[in-house]
Amino acid sequence: MIELDGATGEGGGQILRSALALAMCTGQAFTVRNIRAHRPKPGLMRQHLACVRAAQAVSGARVRGDELDSPTLVFEPGPVRPGEHHFDVGSAGSSTLVLQTVWPALLQAQAPSRLRLSGGTHNPMAPPHPFIERCFAPLVRRLGAGAELRLLRHGFAPQGGGEIEARLTPAAALVPIDLLARGALQEARVECVAPGWGQEAALQALAPVRAMLQELLGEAVGIACDTPRVPAGEGPGQILMVTLAYAHVTEVVCVLGGKRGVSPAALAALRQALHAHHGSEGALGEYLTDQWALPLALAVHHTRQAAAYSATVLSLHTRTNFEVIERFLPVRFETAQAGRGWRVSVAPKHPG
Ligand code: ATP
Repeated sequence: MIELDGATGEGGGQILRSALALAMCTGQAFTVRNIRAHRPKPGLMRQHLACVRAAQAVSGARVRGDELDSPTLVFEPGPVRPGEHHFDVGSAGSSTLVLQTVWPALLQAQAPSRLRLSGGTHNPMAPPHPFIERCFAPLVRRLGAGAELRLLRHGFAPQGGGEIEARLTPAAALVPIDLLARGALQEARVECVAPGWGQEAALQALAPVRAMLQELLGEAVGIACDTPRVPAGEGPGQILMVTLAYAHVTEVVCVLGGKRGVSPAALAALRQALHAHHGSEGALGEYLTDQWALPLALAVHHTRQAAAYSATVLSLHTRTNFEVIERFLPVRFETAQAGRGWRVSVAPKHPG
C-alpha cells in the first residue's frame, strides 16, 4: 500500500488525481491522507469525488473514504475495464479533469474505449476542452495511442451541462518522445466563444486580445480571428482563446468570462500569460508541463528509455506531480534551468 500525504508540496487535488491514474496503471493500492490540505476548503469536493467514481468504474476498485469533505481515501484498483463509460460530474465541475484521471490507464488497456463525460467543459483552474483537444491529445498520439475528442455541448461554470465524447485507442507500445523545441510558428488564432452572442459583440471582445498578440508577434504575422456561433442555451459564459500552433507543439492560452463578459483583471492575466510564453523558449507552457509528466513517465517506464522536454515555467503544482509519479513508477525526474526556460528529463531508475 502506497501512503501519500495530500499536504505535500502544493497540497491540492492533483495529488489525488495523479495517484488514481497511476494506481490504475500499475495495479498498486494507495492511501492518501490530508487530501487538498492547502486548499481553503480541504477534503474531497464534488469534482474530486467524480474522479474517484470514474476511476472506480474503470478499475473495479475497492474504495473507502469516498464521501464529500473526506480527508482520507483508500483506493485498491482491480483490472482495467476499457469499453463504454459515461461519467457525470453532477455539477459544473471539470469533466476534462475526470478524463485525464482515467486516460492513462486506458492508454495501456487491452481494447479501445468510448467515454461520454458530462459536466463543465470550460472551467477556471482546469484545462478547457480546446486545450485538451489541441494541445494535450496530439502529444498523447505521438506516444503511439489514438485519441479523438468531440465537444458535443459547451458547459461553462457555474451552470455546467456540457458534454464531451472521447474515443481512446490504446498504444501497441507507448514510446517516449523528446520535446525540446516548439518549432516554427505555423498558425496564430484568436477566438471568442460566447453562447448567444452576435458576431459584433464577439469581435469587440476579441479586439484587445488580437491587439496584444499582434504587438507580441509583430505586424508581419497574420492572425486568424474566429467567432463561432453557439446557441444561447449552452451559456451563459465566454472564453477568449489564443491558439499558437508551432511545428512540434500547440499552445492555447485563454481566459473565461461570466455573465458580463471577461473582466479587465482577466484580460491583464491573459496579457501576462502571453508575455511569459513569448519571453521563454520552453516547448511546453506551464500547464502542459505538469500534464505531460504522467503520460511521458509511463512511456519511459514501459520502454526503459529516457526522455526530455523543455518548459517555460516549473510550478509547484508540476514539482508536486513529479513527486507523486515517482512514488508509483520507477522513474526519476530531473530539472535544470536552460536558456529562457527549464529542461525536464525523465529517466528509468533501472535503464534497460
Ligand atoms: P484543486 O485542489 O482545487 O483540485 P488542483 O491543485 O488540483 O486544484 P489546479 O492547480 O487548480 O489543481 O490545476 C488543475 C489542473 O488544471 C492542472 O493540471 C493544470 O495544468 C490545469 N489547468 C489549470 N488552468 C489551465 C488552463 N488555463 N489551461 C490548461 N490547463 C489548465
